[in-house]
Amino acid sequence: MNRYHATWLVPIEGEPIHNGWFTVDHGRIVALGRRAANDPAPGIELGHVAVLPGLVNAHTHLELSYLRDRIAPSESFTGWARQIIYERRKQPNLRAPEIMSAIAAAIAECLRCGTAVVGDVSNTLAPFAQLAESVLAGVVFWEIIGFKIDRPEDLVAHAIGELGTLPATGHVRASLAAHAPYSVAPLLFREIKKAVARLPFVPCSVHLAENVEEVELLETGGGPWRALMKDIGSWNHEWDAPGVGPVRYLDDMGFLDNRLLAVHGVQMSKADLARLKERGTTLVTCPRSNGHTGAGLPPIADFYGSGVRVAIGTDSLASSPDLNVFAEVATLRALAPSVPAASLLASATIEGARALGFDADYGTIEPGKLARLVAVEVPPGTTDVEEYLVSGVHPGQIRWV
Ligand SMILES: [Zn+2]
Repeated sequence: MNRYHATWLVPIEGEPIHNGWFTVDHGRIVALGRRAANDPAPGIELGHVAVLPGLVNAHTHLELSYLRDRIAPSESFTGWARQIIYERRKQPNLRAPEIMSAIAAAIAECLRCGTAVVGDVSNTLAPFAQLAESVLAGVVFWEIIGFKIDRPEDLVAHAIGELGTLPATGHVRASLAAHAPYSVAPLLFREIKKAVARLPFVPCSVHLAENVEEVELLETGGGPWRALMKDIGSWNHEWDAPGVGPVRYLDDMGFLDNRLLAVHGVQMSKADLARLKERGTTLVTCPRSNGHTGAGLPPIADFYGSGVRVAIGTDSLASSPDLNVFAEVATLRALAPSVPAASLLASATIEGARALGFDADYGTIEPGKLARLVAVEVPPGTTDVEEYLVSGVHPGQIRWV
């Protein structure tokens, strides 16, 4: 058993501990506490650091990492979506060397940034094998897209069959995701929901209420999404607009529940947030991506004010400058100065771990959990360590314990 000492221990479950100690046996936390001034017990000195659980990046797309710096910031979300659709068509080999090597680099970047668990959304399952070989834990969501589709049950059955061929690993699990209300037909949503319900407990994911064009399409049946879908040959002439917003739309079809990660929520009203909270759905916010794609800034203070569970994702390198969750947290802090730093840190750790089904091992420093801990250098004399951690931490300050 090893004993460690650090200037700060930030267990997430409970207050930060100044002059903390913790013990680790066989990779798991045994105990933790505050060191008394005359405590003679020897330990490994970690120095002027804050030790906290490895972070959770609850929403990313590792397979898009090769598009880093290739998609310009956009004034409108559909403008950004057009760029990415056309850019991806230039590389039809979904396992091309440039894609696979960018996935490897992205996994390494996640680790350098102190991330322990990811929620990765993929159209190809390409990242699965590399994640399984890495020390990152997480869920790979096979994302289903299909707005104009004849036999949704066949598409979902095929996807479930493919998931069944993946090698079993304890630390990387696979599930399904629905892309978004503007790209998934109602019957396909129902098939995905039914299929996920039959899997052993794994979460599901959907991009929801991300952009104004999505709201316009659902409420009126028109707007830029309709035009874009027609241009790419994906429009469904039989689709009728439900005449309600995205949250109400998915709730009416029974898609919102406590297994769901609803990603973005930029366009969610307070009533939408109350509905999400009632269903136990976790909202995943990715504010830097929202700024880049033209979706606009998410109402972070409303998210936290509503009491809904909030987790944090960087989104992909096609819309985010890096995969550093600490940088994402700093953006939340800038957008919502009134939200307690402790709540932001919980979103970046335990809330993501819980939503992804990894909270038995990750997300807090507690006896019995894995000792997947990061030590972040903090300046001597720091008094409010939580505020320091949400103000922006760069990878050079981070090391794994
Ligand atoms: Zn996404």
